[in-house]
Amino acid sequence: MSDLASLEQRALTELQATADEAALRAWNTKYFGKQGEVTLALRKVGEVPPAERKAYGQEANRIKEALTNAYEAKLAGQKERQLKQSLAAEAIDVTLPGRPLIRGRLHPSTQTLRTIGSIFADLGFQIYRSREVEDDLTNFELLNMPPHHPARDMWDTFHTTTPGVLLRTHTSPGQIHVMREYCPRPIRVILPGMCYRYEAITVRSEIMFNQVEGLAIGTNVTMADQNGTITAFARRMFGEDRQVRIRSSYFPFTEPSIEVDMDCSNCAGKGCGLCKRSGWLEIMGAGMVHPTVLKNGGYDPYTVSGFAFGMGPERIAMRKFGIDDIRQFWANDLRFLRQF
Ligand SMILES: [Zn+2]
Repeated sequence: MSDLASLEQRALTELQATADEAALRAWNTKYFGKQGEVTLALRKVGEVPPAERKAYGQEANRIKEALTNAYEAKLAGQKERQLKQSLAAEAIDVTLPGRPLIRGRLHPSTQTLRTIGSIFADLGFQIYRSREVEDDLTNFELLNMPPHHPARDMWDTFHTTTPGVLLRTHTSPGQIHVMREYCPRPIRVILPGMCYRYEAITVRSEIMFNQVEGLAIGTNVTMADQNGTITAFARRMFGEDRQVRIRSSYFPFTEPSIEVDMDCSNCAGKGCGLCKRSGWLEIMGAGMVHPTVLKNGGYDPYTVSGFAFGMGPERIAMRKFGIDDIRQFWANDLRFLRQF
């Protein structure tokens, strides 16, 4: 019985000395854990001589209850103190004005791509996404450029360590993908996306850039449709009074091939620094889809025809916004990007 009395005294003294919640929990384990002193004292009832057993049991239970109550009271007090502390430390002044969010905006290339996309959507063109990693077959061969064809020199290519796998040098391989998916149905799509060329980086050329390819295939598609489409695009993009001129050119995958110029939007054709005094700005290459390419896409070149065109949105953005250095697009300079 005297053991029980001293146990109670000791436990209460230690409880009073605990300073935080961790110490409280440790105290609880020491006295009420599986091997805790109170737990063991209760278990000992059976060893007590029968004459004293009842009194011992009653006293042990009283101590257990008294200590448990003391522990819970102390724990509750501790929690309340913590809550008061955190409320005082993290007080929120609801009368303060909110912090302003920095407004983000779209990259000038994305803005231009979206404008191009919406103009062609109005002309009935859908957007077709095509892969950036291509095989040699689709990037060159099926576009009428067999191995060793001199036209391949027009594209300095990033080859991967896997033979025959490369980063696409233009969006034209997408023509093959879309033709094979849609054949024999008619097609009216644009193919936007990033292209890669192993070139020296200068104010006029980058190793990565966007391109937007266009492709229309069907019966009775002629060069008049092509020129009308391109003129409509140039006027929506650069102004209703734009004039368009075409020059003959060469691409392996179109026949005949053309380059498209429009009168300089800066000087209205009079001649200025932007157009190098010529009055004209080159905006895209185009042409009627080569019969071999139509055949490679699954179409019969004797019954259907088509036109294709390709342009660089960064170049278009440079014309539209008066940007004089193409390297600005990927330099990540906020002073440049915030202007758009
Ligand atoms: Zn000009």
